Amino acid sequence: PHELTARPEPAAQGDVVLVETGAAPLSASLDGAVPFYREGDRWVALVGIDAEARPGRRDLRVRWEDGEATLRFEVRAKAFPTERLRVEPRYVEPPAEVAARIAAEKARLDRLWERRSPERRWQGGFRRPVPAEPSSAFGLQRVFNGQRRSPHNGVDFPVGAGIPVAAANAGEVAVAEDLYFTGNTVIVDHGLGLYTTYAHLSEIEVRVGQPIAAGTIVGRVGATGRATGPHLHW
Ligand code: ZN
Repeated sequence: PHELTARPEPAAQGDVVLVETGAAPLSASLDGAVPFYREGDRWVALVGIDAEARPGRRDLRVRWEDGEATLRFEVRAKAFPTERLRVEPRYVEPPAEVAARIAAEKARLDRLWERRSPERRWQGGFRRPVPAEPSSAFGLQRVFNGQRRSPHNGVDFPVGAGIPVAAANAGEVAVAEDLYFTGNTVIVDHGLGLYTTYAHLSEIEVRVGQPIAAGTIVGRVGATGRATGPHLHW
């Protein structure tokens, strides 16, 4: 009953797909609920495609008051280059005594990613958290000390220790603590399931639950956790 578009189409592994429609959806789903927000006279949703998502067709089902529609879009395989890095061995083969900690942190983050705060907190475009060009792209295949690990799930900014790190947009602090792999980590909840992560910080300067504006300093660049040296992993 209503126009429904997705772009880019086809999408690739690691893309964010922008879905638009001209009327307020009652609900939408694609491997779980997809939240829409209003942008002028359009309703918009952002659908993140994991770098390791299986290639193929996806069906996004949308229901309005006066009917429903299925938007079929394609996800294509993308060839990500490989990056080889050397880090302390304990970050490649973690000692047995940290296994429980690593599992607990992963379980908490998995639960966090499922949590979709109902309110959109971000406004306008996302700004870079530090004044630099990224040096390592999202989705790179990662080989640490000769062993393959999960792909790079962010971008790295090569900036020196102590540089202030600014929130990319408005939100609320969801995580502000030392995690095994990402070191001192701040995660900002921008609402509707959209989060930004700031990792390997030397200092954390916000606390959980704190509402923050775009540009709020959340911490300082460091090299904590699985890092080859000072940089910001975003
Ligand atoms: Zn990184």
